[in-house]
Amino acid sequence: MSEIRELYQEVVMDHTRHPRNFHKLEGANKTADGYNPFCGDRVSIFLKLKGDRVEDVGFQGAGCAISTSSASMLTEAVKGKTTAEIQALYDVVHQMLTRAPGTEFDDEKLGDLEILSGVSEFPTRVKCAGLSWHTLMAALKGDKEAIFTE
Ligand code: ZN
Repeated sequence: MSEIRELYQEVVMDHTRHPRNFHKLEGANKTADGYNPFCGDRVSIFLKLKGDRVEDVGFQGAGCAISTSSASMLTEAVKGKTTAEIQALYDVVHQMLTRAPGTEFDDEKLGDLEILSGVSEFPTRVKCAGLSWHTLMAALKGDKEAIFTE
């Protein structure tokens, strides 16, 4: 097993065992529920927006290690960011997850999230990793539900 794969597994397992911001958020003013029928993952995202900025964020849900760790990393990544910054981050995450294996992506903005880049080799896992992001964007848009159908 290569070093990057070991690191990937360690980070994913750490976030799965100890999910960050894993709670329903009191006073949340944007929420959405996401469902990935391909794996059975469920996630709820709670955002407390003040003006244009995410003041606090939480999530709840049940799913595989990839979906849980992705949601956990997401909450750390979006706290304190503006909706425009989150849209820009989403675009990079989306690019990373859906790119052809081995091709480049803009990794400068990603930090720890880059650890999920290995997922793009496994098309069925892309939806697991993308679910929380999909749900986050639904919440920001004011949609209550985010479900993968394709
Ligand atoms: Zn999954």
